[in-house]
Amino acid sequence: MRKRELAKFRKLLEEKRRSLLQKTTRTAEEGRGAVIEGGEDYVDDAVTHYTREFLLSLSDLERRQLMLVEEALVRIREGTYGECQMCGEDIGLKRLQAVPWARYCVHCQELAEREELAQSFPVRDIADEVEEE
Ligand SMILES: [Zn+2]
Repeated sequence: MRKRELAKFRKLLEEKRRSLLQKTTRTAEEGRGAVIEGGEDYVDDAVTHYTREFLLSLSDLERRQLMLVEEALVRIREGTYGECQMCGEDIGLKRLQAVPWARYCVHCQELAEREELAQSFPVRDIADEVEEE
């Protein structure tokens, strides 16, 4: 993926993260000072520490989305953004534009969603489970 596109997606993801975190700070008073500001260089660590408490005030869906957003930001940093986390193929720009935090290509997403019906969040390591079948 080109740098310019990557930067665009990062911006989208950071905005999404901000709005999700803002939601939590409305309800989590003490978390107000801990919201990550411009923290793109330490997203993974900082977020794991700080969001644990915030997350409690989010709905499952929001919590889920925030995690996906954080993961996507980490992938941008690591240079793997845009690759399907299951099969390694390119997710595709079109899909990323619709869902910037997409983890999987369309095909793998379908598999993942089918799995999710049986067992809800989290879907981490779902690839292993699929392979075992
Ligand atoms: Zn895939």
